[in-house]
Amino acid sequence: MSRQPIKIPPILADTIICSIASIDKTLFVQTDPCPHCEGRAAPYDTKEKTYATLHTEEGVKKITVFVRRFRCHWCGVLLYANEPFYPSTRLGSAVVDMATALSLVNSFSHTAAIINAMGIDIDRGSVRKYALSDLPVPNITFFYGLPLPISLFSLIGWAVGRKSSPATTETELLAASGFPSAYRAPLDEAEISRKRLEQRKKQKQNG
Ligand SMILES: [Zn+2]
Repeated sequence: MSRQPIKIPPILADTIICSIASIDKTLFVQTDPCPHCEGRAAPYDTKEKTYATLHTEEGVKKITVFVRRFRCHWCGVLLYANEPFYPSTRLGSAVVDMATALSLVNSFSHTAAIINAMGIDIDRGSVRKYALSDLPVPNITFFYGLPLPISLFSLIGWAVGRKSSPATTETELLAASGFPSAYRAPLDEAEISRKRLEQRKKQKQNG
């Protein structure tokens, strides 16, 4: 493995850091009907979640977002608003997309080192977990020789072009991130045949 220091063009690192920093303190409140029973969900509370930890010239900066939680009126389940996180992940989707994209051609530890060199916290274990999970493999483009997710450039575009209107920030940010919280892993073969079997049973019962 190469022990040479990783050089990231400062303009690239700065642009990425600034874009992620623009997410700070965004409030996410939009939700869909309960996915379990389609019941109406009522606001419950609001949670602050860490999106990323950045190392900037001014020091370490935690980027957080506020995500409203809802309780379903019918079945009582607790739901999160649509948020810029993939299901069951602790880092923001831009960082996760970067980890999965970079690990397509780099080892897990080198991927972590590249992201760290940009000034973003991530460890090898997290890169490995995301790369080996059911999460989507992002569409990529090579930039300065690095495979970077297209979603990152959408996020940069959003950050550069935004008119700082809080009313539209939430929707724009979710769109730029590719609606990560709505992601459902594709069913594997076993799951698909189990569902088909269930369907056939139901059809028999009904017919
Ligand atoms: Zn429900």
